[in-house]
Amino acid sequence: MGSILEIRELSIVFSTVIGNVYAVNKSSFNLNNNETLALVGETGCGKSVIANSIMRLLPQNAKVSGKIMYKGQDILKMSEKEIEKIRQQEISIVFQNPSMSLNPLQKIGDQISEPLLIHKKMNKKDAFNKSIDLLRTMGFQNPSKTAKMYPHQLSGGMNQRVLLAISMTLNPSIIIADEPTKGLDNILITDMIEEFKTLKRANESSLLIITHDLSVARELSDRIAIMYSGDILEISETESFFNNPLHPYSKILLDSLPERGFNPPKGTSPSMVNIPKGCKFHPRCPYVKKECTEKVPSITSHNGRQVRCYLFL
Ligand code: SF4
Repeated sequence: MGSILEIRELSIVFSTVIGNVYAVNKSSFNLNNNETLALVGETGCGKSVIANSIMRLLPQNAKVSGKIMYKGQDILKMSEKEIEKIRQQEISIVFQNPSMSLNPLQKIGDQISEPLLIHKKMNKKDAFNKSIDLLRTMGFQNPSKTAKMYPHQLSGGMNQRVLLAISMTLNPSIIIADEPTKGLDNILITDMIEEFKTLKRANESSLLIITHDLSVARELSDRIAIMYSGDILEISETESFFNNPLHPYSKILLDSLPERGFNPPKGTSPSMVNIPKGCKFHPRCPYVKKECTEKVPSITSHNGRQVRCYLFL
């Protein structure tokens, strides 16, 4: 299984009035062809920043270094014209808030049709019919009727499904979903998981799911990457991760699941302005030793898994 996307030593620093915010630090991972990778971590750990850097949607105060290789080309070095084409046709992103992403004044079918009219030069009727097909794929019982409705006539969950339909319109190589279940209740989360499974069945895209929700990651992903305060701490196949987490933070995260006793992690993530020396997790780690407080551990391989911790060096 080859890689379609390779993130190499990606660092992102925001220059702000309170100082430099170190959002992502020398992070590396691959997204393989047809794979679903979940990038998991607490709110503010840098995962959405990575998603936006892949789309080159970061604000101007962001300083980015490293490489984001897509089909052998570095996204960070592409011209505006090249990245615009990638954004429109090859990598699509589904943002977490449908009400911000959909146009309230445009019919659902027209919103799904738009990329087909612009990029595939389809005629209006064919594009609208294709939008109905996509709505059907995403589980709408009466897609012809839905296509003629406006976003305010649908529930939040339905609008999220519309966004997924839009993301599939041009058959992209990669779909990035940024916190797709944030703010949804448990019933809608279950629905959303089913919708992503439908999307995967209907489409050969690779999927990068950005989430704080381990249950969502378990249901949907082939592999999981754990992020903490701008660092990737562990990358494992999903079942191996849940059966035997390696990193101490991974273990603590899993203990927060209801089926494992619901023990939320104690303490808080460190400031991204005043970063602690050494392993960033050391102020919360039950296994901390002297060297952990002095130097950042490097990430190393263990039976096909990767982990950043002195216990594995
Ligand atoms: Fe804990 Fe040290 Fe491993 Fe960090 S490097 S997770 S402080 S044992």
